Amino acid sequence: KDKKKQKVEAKASDGKQPLYPRPLTSFNELRSVYNVSTRLVANLAEHGYRLPTEVQMGSLPLLLSPKSAVTDTLDNADHVNFLAVAPTGSGKTLSFLIPTINRILAQRKQSQEKGNKQPLAAIVLAPTRELAHQIASEGQKLAAGTGVKIVMFKKGMRIAAESSDIEVAQESDGESDDEEEDEDESDAASDVNNTAPLTLTKADILVTTPMLLLNFLNREKTKKLLPSVRTLILDEGDVLLDELFREQTQGILASCTSESLQIMCFSATMGSNIEALLMQELEKRQQDESSPSPL
Ligand code: ADP
Ligand code: MG
Repeated sequence: KDKKKQKVEAKASDGKQPLYPRPLTSFNELRSVYNVSTRLVANLAEHGYRLPTEVQMGSLPLLLSPKSAVTDTLDNADHVNFLAVAPTGSGKTLSFLIPTINRILAQRKQSQEKGNKQPLAAIVLAPTRELAHQIASEGQKLAAGTGVKIVMFKKGMRIAAESSDIEVAQESDGESDDEEEDEDESDAASDVNNTAPLTLTKADILVTTPMLLLNFLNREKTKKLLPSVRTLILDEGDVLLDELFREQTQGILASCTSESLQIMCFSATMGSNIEALLMQELEKRQQDESSPSPL
């Protein structure tokens, strides 16, 4: 199904060839084949998504399958790391939001925990606040009624790291984000100083620019927040792994210490040698895993 202008590539973290599952032909298969939440699938229909786009057809089966089903390796990682390169406007956002929300719901079902007891499960990194905002509102529509909370990170926001934090938390409503802070201050060189009052927010999926998150982590002086993160998405990964952002992105990657971290990278171009850069990051993680932990 690969057309010349659209290329979906999947890499297992060990570099072996993936066994491509059958492309998704309809959103109904999310339910019938991959057991995705009924509510999530209903939300797709409600928002007018009738048929998956090509990148969704290719990505979703890989991202919704356990690793053992899409590689010929026998290791106990439950998901593959992933790189998709597909043009702007091809529907990459849903390609990562659906599996991310689904993974959180599946985990929740497994652990029988209440929604508000789970620590932060996923981070979506985007190079600009404007893009982060779009992703968050798309995610909120998609997750409506599932109990999965998607939050656009803002200056002055604190994210609760543990369930015990939530009891003192002043919940802010993730559904209706205030727009005023989000003007065109884009990204990398965002201001560090910030005197806004801090509100503690609970999030399952945090959407943020690398700089906003790093500023928060530096301010908090705690590494509690990121070890629970099991899904890290690099949207516009070519930009996030390019010179301007690379160090910031690497800083966040290094703090996501979960052994079951799944990395999904989406890009409109093969620019800045994204494939090699991503493989480098994955190899670094593997080496770190095999060496003793500094803690
Ligand atoms: P990309 O990130 O690849 O540039 P987006 O995820 O932003 O693309 O999607 C581009 C547009 O296509 C958005 O307006 C989105 O709502 C719409 N879209 C995504 N998937 C579908 C689909 N399956 N059917 C119809 N429209 C879709
Ligand atoms: Mg996009």
